[in-house]
Amino acid sequence: MEISHQEIDSNKLVANIASGNKFGTFFGVSQKTLDKVWKNLTDPDGNSITYISMEIGADLDVHNPVKTFLIKNKISTNTKATLKYQIKKFLNGPEKIPNYGGGLGILAGDTLKSFADCKIPAVGISLLYRKGYFSQLVDSMAGQVAWATNWRPEETASLYLLKDPKNPDLPLQIEVPFYDRGDKKTTAYANLWLKMEINNDLDFFVPEILLDYGISSSPDWIRDAAQHLYESRSERAKVIQRRLLGAGIVPAMQALKITSQTIHLNEQHGVVVVLHLIAEFLKEQHGDDYPMLASDQDIMAAAKAAAKKVIFTIHTPVKAGHDRFDKNLYADLSHSFCRRILELLAIDEETAHCYNFTSLAMKINRAANSVSRLHQTVTRKQFPKNAKKIKAITNGVHHLTWISEAKAELYDSFSEFKNWRHNPSVFAKASKLLGNHKFRTYLEQAWHTDTTILVNYINTMLIQHRNQMQETWIDPPNFISHLDEKERNLSADIFTIGFARRFSTYKRADLIFEDMDKLCDIIVNNNFPVNFVFAGKAHPSDEPGKSLIKLVLDTQQELYEKSQGLAKLVFIPGYDMAIAKTMIAGVHAWLNSPKRPLEASGTSGMKAALNAIPNISTMDGWWVEGYHKGKTGWKFGIETQIDEVSLSEDYASLSYKEDSASFYRIFPKILTAFYDEDKRAEYIDKCIMNIALNCPIFNTHRMAAEYIDLYGITLSASMNRKMAKFREMYNSNGA
Ligand SMILES: *Cc1c(COP(=O)(O)O)cnc(C)c1O
Repeated sequence: MEISHQEIDSNKLVANIASGNKFGTFFGVSQKTLDKVWKNLTDPDGNSITYISMEIGADLDVHNPVKTFLIKNKISTNTKATLKYQIKKFLNGPEKIPNYGGGLGILAGDTLKSFADCKIPAVGISLLYRKGYFSQLVDSMAGQVAWATNWRPEETASLYLLKDPKNPDLPLQIEVPFYDRGDKKTTAYANLWLKMEINNDLDFFVPEILLDYGISSSPDWIRDAAQHLYESRSERAKVIQRRLLGAGIVPAMQALKITSQTIHLNEQHGVVVVLHLIAEFLKEQHGDDYPMLASDQDIMAAAKAAAKKVIFTIHTPVKAGHDRFDKNLYADLSHSFCRRILELLAIDEETAHCYNFTSLAMKINRAANSVSRLHQTVTRKQFPKNAKKIKAITNGVHHLTWISEAKAELYDSFSEFKNWRHNPSVFAKASKLLGNHKFRTYLEQAWHTDTTILVNYINTMLIQHRNQMQETWIDPPNFISHLDEKERNLSADIFTIGFARRFSTYKRADLIFEDMDKLCDIIVNNNFPVNFVFAGKAHPSDEPGKSLIKLVLDTQQELYEKSQGLAKLVFIPGYDMAIAKTMIAGVHAWLNSPKRPLEASGTSGMKAALNAIPNISTMDGWWVEGYHKGKTGWKFGIETQIDEVSLSEDYASLSYKEDSASFYRIFPKILTAFYDEDKRAEYIDKCIMNIALNCPIFNTHRMAAEYIDLYGITLSASMNRKMAKFREMYNSNGA
């Protein structure tokens, strides 16, 4: 057989991104890169970060540098026999890893991707959930229906089952002990999977280690608790799941010889690691009999030493987000010595029979931070004893993941944005383009492209739902599925407003439908057609959240009829990263209506801003920092003081009346700004000022730079300079 030059070249290229070590063979980076990353993580100096998160959202269908590389170099599956399988996986998928529930997981993924881009030595640790979170079906009568998610890690690109170096035919395994009341031990076993977050240049990556307890050597009750993210069928299963993460960290680090002196807890779910760090210190002092020999003072001293290794980021002021577990439940799962430590360190001020894991995490760390400036104020009030040390590092999003293809092309076409992929700070130069006619035209074109993609997606979906009805029992979630084509189809020229996030009470998805007559009057009186596009999941055991979804569905027909067909409300089921990306780039404005100050940060609005889309939001979370009067979007709602009432989720304190009334006051202005030819220019100004004022700041590169400072991690001189530049753009703790 004759081999062409093209084939030889692509063989070479492919060989250059294949590598291996004693844990397996991997695809996407060179041997040099693999060795460098591994050396950083196992170096005795411990200058690396181990990042712990209950969930990581990093689906490959929204960001996949390896696939981009293969396509760009025209490398197809018939290149080289041994690597054919890997190439096929990267080119053809599956591309989704349904191990995330919402903002926390996406933030973890975005953070690790920015670490990779900025060559920050880090490793993520999370759990592998064989049944994912859940798949969402939506039926107009029943509302949300939770469905099992099936995915196979074996078939997913960038995921590898690690091998045991001592016995390469077997997977590398860790042991995590559980104890009953009499300290009788049962062992849980986990295989370790590696997912690689590879940077755009394929010359650095951040490994994520996913602990897979769903294996036959683990007891049934462990496997059961490990299947779904945020297992909540019982409080016991929830406790077990937290322990599977927290107690797996030290064994996983030991198995891989990871030396990080910085363990970052992304929310307190994995805080049990602290107990293990304390035990390690005591063991050094007292030997194996430390549980008998250590005094309370010894434990407190060891806790102080353990704290030096821990960084804690708190993500929510909402009570349901803080873990408090009954001591009785814990007694059936952990060693009596663990409980002795918890008695000293995890005190719940309100209930004597609970351990409070958030307060444990807040206490045992060398630095703690909130996720926005306002959230810092709130957190300091909630934890007065720790108030001083609580810093603010406002969240960001990974710009390479969330900028749409059309917007990327737009940014590529203007020299002001040169190097934006490596340096999102250059977006500040957008203000120079305010008067640039060509830029304004191109921006509108790119925007129209994105809206058309969204609208086509919805129009196809509406028909699919209707056709599906014949084969399944599912009633289309959208009432307009039943209309004829002319009435049913959405158009890209109509003002489209997006709302998508987890459906939980404080986010108030139904806020703007509070007074339907008022809303429809605005639309009808001005003859302004509007599309409302909604998406989002409610946790399967969150009944109030699920009824919010039902409420939104129940609003559709009334809205359509009362607005004389001018307003359509569409619900897109199965919210995930790909749907998020289509929505945040395709809408004309992004709506955020949480009760202030319960949204600690929020990130979907930042994704919209990266695509030049203005936000309409209550003054909560990041928007307090991203809102610039008349420039980046609109604000509404009362700007309450922060007190007990403002932290409540009781319906009566959710301010539906006041905040919806405030929305109705600004809504006509927004519609006019969009539709009125004389005002249109101001609307486009707002889009451009989002690029100028918000893109340079609300990205995970800047956020990573602030974290690096907090961690005290040292990088190469050139990377340190780059990080310092990002910090010059913004300081979450004020100038
Ligand atoms: C960004 C994102 C979120 C978080 O959005 P918030 O505005 O923080 O509520 C949740 N889910 C998905 C799929 C996302 O992409």
